[in-house]
Amino acid sequence: MTLTDLKGIGPKTEKLFNKLGIFTVKDLLYYFPHTYLCYRKPSPIGSLTEGETGAVKGMLEKDASIINLHGLRMTTAYIRDLSGKMRLTWFNAPFLKNTLRAGSAFVFFGKVGDYKGQKTLNQPKIFSVDEYSKKEDTLEPVYGQTKGLSNSLIQKAIKQAMEVSEAQKDFIPGNILYNRELMSMNEAIGHIHFPVNMEDYKKARERHAYNELFLFSMALVKKKQNTDEKKSGYILKRDERIDSFITGLPFKLTDGQAAAVEDIRTDLSSGFIMNRLLQGDVGSGKTIVSFIAALETAFNGHQAAIMAPTEILASQHYEKLKKIVSDNAYDLKIVLVTGSLKASEKKAVYKEIESHEADIIIGTHALFQDNVIYDDLALVVTDEQHRFGVNQRKTLGEKGHSPHTLVMSATPIPRTLAMLLYADMKVSLIKGLPSNRLPIKNAVVNESYREKSYKFIYDEIKKGRQAYIICPMVEENDMLDLENVTDYLLKIRKVFPSDVRIEKLHGKMKPKEKDEIMNRFLHKEIDILVSTTVVEVGVDVPNSTVMMVENAERFGLAQLHQLRGRVGRSGHQSYCIFVDSSNSDKSKERLHILATSNDGFHIAEEDLKLRGPGDIFGIRQSGALDFTIADIYQDKELLRKASEDALYVLRSDPELNNEDHHDLKERLNRYLEESCIL
Ligand code: ADP
Ligand code: MG
Repeated sequence: MTLTDLKGIGPKTEKLFNKLGIFTVKDLLYYFPHTYLCYRKPSPIGSLTEGETGAVKGMLEKDASIINLHGLRMTTAYIRDLSGKMRLTWFNAPFLKNTLRAGSAFVFFGKVGDYKGQKTLNQPKIFSVDEYSKKEDTLEPVYGQTKGLSNSLIQKAIKQAMEVSEAQKDFIPGNILYNRELMSMNEAIGHIHFPVNMEDYKKARERHAYNELFLFSMALVKKKQNTDEKKSGYILKRDERIDSFITGLPFKLTDGQAAAVEDIRTDLSSGFIMNRLLQGDVGSGKTIVSFIAALETAFNGHQAAIMAPTEILASQHYEKLKKIVSDNAYDLKIVLVTGSLKASEKKAVYKEIESHEADIIIGTHALFQDNVIYDDLALVVTDEQHRFGVNQRKTLGEKGHSPHTLVMSATPIPRTLAMLLYADMKVSLIKGLPSNRLPIKNAVVNESYREKSYKFIYDEIKKGRQAYIICPMVEENDMLDLENVTDYLLKIRKVFPSDVRIEKLHGKMKPKEKDEIMNRFLHKEIDILVSTTVVEVGVDVPNSTVMMVENAERFGLAQLHQLRGRVGRSGHQSYCIFVDSSNSDKSKERLHILATSNDGFHIAEEDLKLRGPGDIFGIRQSGALDFTIADIYQDKELLRKASEDALYVLRSDPELNNEDHHDLKERLNRYLEESCIL
């Protein structure tokens, strides 16, 4: 059965689904919602506050009327209940006039706004009272969309897919499902798409999260079974060029950096395989430490690879290291490997890697594709380790002969988790930031502060600085009222004087375009970059001093902290403006944590306390590990259970030869093939 066998999907629509990564009916089942709209009981008008999404029930006082506003036809109506009055408006929907008659009662659902001191709903959805009472307390799934493929079309396709699909295999042993009171896989798929209520959603989500955490734990247990210190074939000598390189740097290494460098050089020369985690907050200067490790490896005549999670970051590292090599006239060749190289370019680079012409190889996970063959790989560095999806982490050890590994991460995670995840690693911690830094000044504001923010940004630009503005979406989404990069760019180009150069950046752009924009931003040919969170990790443009985040309420705190790390990277005073469009107290409280602290560890801990387990609208954190559903903050307890279960299963049946473990064995092998645990 193919997609086009489903009702309503022809070849054209199929292409759109393909764009979302959906190629088969089964893919549809696993295309989980981003978020849900929650149809709460209608509230009295008086109790609704601006920014809140909710429902009101009321009788129309008069027929709806149509007025002309800036050339647009706007339908307006009013409802009233004992607690207050509310204005309702719709653009370009004159036909509503026939429905919205005096004396008729409806339920209106939407986001509460303010129009000249009067409560309003803009573009609310309209339900008959009966219809709504059926929907009450249900959740409607909201999917990632693309132009031409609406949420309701996706919903319909998924409903059909569920009807025509066979039962999904359950690889978790039955006794675990029973003991942990987990839903079956079939139920969990049905209910993650169309939960009956919030409780139901949580159970479904828990099951999917458990899947990920259990497989992850199984792999971890397996890995730990063979990670005693192993002898290394690469015993590196301390090269004195490294010492003079460090003395020649334009800055002095911080104590933390110097200690980390020392740890690493000791490991590399020890005769045992290095397996080290370098942890340090955003901006603490991890990159230079990894460059030193790579240079030492290369000076010893071996190859080193540095892997970054995005092409933008990989090419930034490449440019930096190339400059270091040429400034110091080192006889080393640095190459860049990313997925977007042309076939001919790839061939050429692969040849350089195989013949050992290339000494240091920088790239995305494309570095570890099968056809990249290393002559003599002695060190693998993974930057922003937590960003590599469990499924993306290719087995690095397979390349070369058990190279030394260094992983770097800024993600501060609670101690208990760290012990579980990094039990087999040694840790170097960089505390504190370079001494030339001024603490970032933060502000949490509402939308009414935008004009002022623009003025502020303009003042910084006049001083020669640059700014980022972050929006959560790439394009408009008919279900979510969120800022998107595409429209925002057009909007603010009109706000700023025409000599201010504003461009956009997002993940759907071609890699070459992204590179070009990033380079122009780095070289100060762009003043304001309107971007999605693609710049979240690692990007280093020290001249930028303002970070403005739209819909800040939509992001996890750790993610906002990472984003904020894009500024405050030089001696200039930097600023971060979080625009909170929600107006909810909870969100204010959350963002306040950010505004009052620049310390990533503190933020992670506070965030965890506030969010509590099962917080569905907590918006998935860019967690310490990029699971699809699980979040190791939120699912700390579930992870504990999963790792207990994994240990139990592997102790009782190490090779998984037991009948009950047949499907599990198959699934785990696939998982181990696809992923590399840390
Ligand atoms: P992160 O730890 O987030 O990866 P980076 O390595 O990108 O941070 O460093 C952030 C910025 O700080 C870079 O521009 C880098 O050149 C600079 N930097 C690194 N170490 C120092 C130092 N000891 N003193 C001053 N600036 C430094
Ligand atoms: Mg970095």
